[in-house]
Amino acid sequence: MDPVTIFIVATLMMLANGWVLGLMRKDFPVALRPCTESWRTATLLLAGSSVLYAFQYQLPLGVASPLANGLVMLGCTGYLRALRQFYGLPDPRWLFLPALTGVLGILWFAVLQPDTRMRVLILSACSTFLLLASFVQLVSQKSSEGAHSRRVVASLFALVAGFMVFRAAYLLARGISPSFDITGEGAWINIASPMITALLPVVGTTAFLLMCSERIGRQWELAASTDYLTGLPNRRTLITVGERRFAERLHQRGRNLALAVIDIDHFKAINDRHGHEVGDVALRHVAEHLRAACRGSDLAARHGGEEFVVLWDGLDAAAALTAGERLRALVAREPLHVGGASIAMTISMGVAAAGEGERSFSDLLRRADEALYIAKATGRNRVEIAV
Ligand code: GH3
Ligand code: MG
Ligand code: MG
Repeated sequence: MDPVTIFIVATLMMLANGWVLGLMRKDFPVALRPCTESWRTATLLLAGSSVLYAFQYQLPLGVASPLANGLVMLGCTGYLRALRQFYGLPDPRWLFLPALTGVLGILWFAVLQPDTRMRVLILSACSTFLLLASFVQLVSQKSSEGAHSRRVVASLFALVAGFMVFRAAYLLARGISPSFDITGEGAWINIASPMITALLPVVGTTAFLLMCSERIGRQWELAASTDYLTGLPNRRTLITVGERRFAERLHQRGRNLALAVIDIDHFKAINDRHGHEVGDVALRHVAEHLRAACRGSDLAARHGGEEFVVLWDGLDAAAALTAGERLRALVAREPLHVGGASIAMTISMGVAAAGEGERSFSDLLRRADEALYIAKATGRNRVEIAV
């Protein structure tokens, strides 16, 4: 196939990807719409550049070259913007500076001082810089951030950047005449160019969509397992983890498991006196204490309302009682400071340790709840152990 046909095929594939992304626009969560929109724009810009390369010999050099190369550099900028938006980074206008400088340079060396080598050099330097910036953006993320798809997208950016450098080196070493166009000299590299650069808008778009879908999946998982207000695991997670630990314990003789059901004392009074928002701050305040007191595989969860549960892995009744007492004393010792006010808070706690004949996790939870009832009935700000 000749380079013109390849450029046209590449254009059609890029347009198809841009079109599909456009169709999906409303299906993305609001938070992901800006980045998918930037990715789509970048893909369409590259499609525009590809069609211009295919027909560049039918346009004056001073128009075709700055336009086609400018669209490549803007496309690379678009991908960088998309990734920055994906990771919640600022989207400053100076991001367009490399592409703008590149276009002006190419315009200069196309019209005022025609020089093909300089145009090749500017396009390569600018797009390689932008592609590598995207690559760095991707590889510098935490490993938990969509590992597989992220690696694919990063590899594509690295591959295309590498190719841009190679292409420039090849063309410069080989020497290019001022009448250079894609159908002439070095035809094979002009066949490779659209094929390699199309990797980003075509394969890259699929991998980027996978990054988005992994992100959505993780957010759903987090929302389903976490309490929105305090950030602690929710009741669903507590029950799942608790039942699993309980089952594990049955297979491991001598492994202890204890828990505390914790309820804030007179919490309604805090809401009534200081307002619901301060009540929310108070819930976070207690949650923070519980979280900080957890060691290793311990788990602190919000059980509902102003009630929490702490699951202690490996503690027997005596150790759980000590841990619970320490926690109670800590909350009582540190009042909540909010809006200039100092609000004293106390908690009551029912502690239960899994015994020989313990039948289920929910039985353990129920016994701790009964102990909590006694702690409340006998004066609050107390820890009661279940018998
Ligand atoms: P006790 O010492 O007997 O536990 O008294 P209490 O006032 O703490 O208990 P009660 O069950 O009477 O009141 C619990 C209050 O917790 C009532 C409810 O409005 C409030 N509450 C539950 N969830 C939230 C929440 O998410 N935010 C706020 N601000 N308040 C909440
Ligand atoms: Mg209460
Ligand atoms: Mg309560």
